[in-house]
Amino acid sequence: MGLSNQEDDIMNHDHRDLARDMSLIATDATVGAGLPLWLPAGAAMRHELEQLGRETALATGCRPVYSPVLGKRALFEQSGHWDKFADDMFPAMAMGGTDADDLVLRPANCPHHAMLYAAEQHSYRELPIRYHELAPMFRAERSGVVSGLSRVRQINLDDTHVFARPDQIRDEVTLALGAGLDVLDTLGVEVSYVRLSCRDSSDRWLGDPGHWADAEAQLREATHAVDLSRRGLALREEAGEAAFYGPKLDIQVLDAAGREETISTVQLDFGQPERFDLTYIGPDGARERLVMIHRGLVGSMERMVALLLEVHDGRLPIWLAPVHVCVLPLSDAQQDPAAEAAAQLSAAGLRVRVAISGSLGRRLREARRRRDSLLAVVGPTEVAAGRLAVHDPATVGRTDLAVAVLRDWLRAAIGARQPRVDLS
Ligand SMILES: [Zn+2]
Repeated sequence: MGLSNQEDDIMNHDHRDLARDMSLIATDATVGAGLPLWLPAGAAMRHELEQLGRETALATGCRPVYSPVLGKRALFEQSGHWDKFADDMFPAMAMGGTDADDLVLRPANCPHHAMLYAAEQHSYRELPIRYHELAPMFRAERSGVVSGLSRVRQINLDDTHVFARPDQIRDEVTLALGAGLDVLDTLGVEVSYVRLSCRDSSDRWLGDPGHWADAEAQLREATHAVDLSRRGLALREEAGEAAFYGPKLDIQVLDAAGREETISTVQLDFGQPERFDLTYIGPDGARERLVMIHRGLVGSMERMVALLLEVHDGRLPIWLAPVHVCVLPLSDAQQDPAAEAAAQLSAAGLRVRVAISGSLGRRLREARRRRDSLLAVVGPTEVAAGRLAVHDPATVGRTDLAVAVLRDWLRAAIGARQPRVDLS
């Protein structure tokens, strides 16, 4: 990967440039287009996003599951993906049986999760059941259209499927919508509005119009329950914009260029429960049809990283930053105390880098280019006082701190997922 010619503080809103400046992602023609390699700095950021996804899932009653990235073609014929999305799927792998036995890379995780639900019998008392997985799915994007992290061939998704009774839709969607808004708040992404996509009067919708009307009313009630207006958010209803298999709520955000983007989504699905015959045992012992809810809060790791880089211009909330502190000895004489300070910070679980080669000015520019969160300079005065000269390029805040104090401040800010450490 080549370095940017723009090493100074130039605002750079394209995530591909930021990912290169920050050493997050590499691509290689031999690996293939649309198949990004996550360098350690990118992996650190992705790990934090995955943790946020996992914690949010657990806090909202999800149970973690694992499922394979492959499934028989028959699975995707049953789900309907084979009919609708075959052009976006990678070619099936012949396994010597019939066509239905061929294996395919999954275009979505939903069928596997439907099968996880179907693997056991469930009573109405157990519902809702929520399965969560950070799971990859695949799109056979053409080489010409893949780009950075916004269009890739393996999409790593924060994915939840809820299996609920029809009377549980409102509470379930309230839970998911509230959690989705909190996630975006934690990530420092401003929400533009919430969109409710409904059916219209045409006949292209799957299922009973009465179920649709009831489900749409419950989605509307969920938006009241999370009190959008208190959060300063509007609800926009769009008739005819639903998926053919169910209405949905999307949390809309604006990217750095002002384009609207959907990040978190809560999607009702009347179709998959029919196709996979998903039921629960009702109070009278009869099998009842459930509703499936697709829920993605952090969304795809690739798109979220691209969005975060652009909206923050690489100056990420400190808990997400690949490097929390860059330690810079003023000259060779301070290399040992700088290394000791870095070791003390690393031992506390912080991500630390020591910058030693080249002039101080050059190292500071490099640290700014990489968007290291805090810069800590160690000169003779700091060594004598047992302190670091700490500087936050994002706020221009600066102060002198003992290493242990910096460590404690950072741990507190990161533990609480605060945007930054207050150096004032
Ligand atoms: Zn799904």
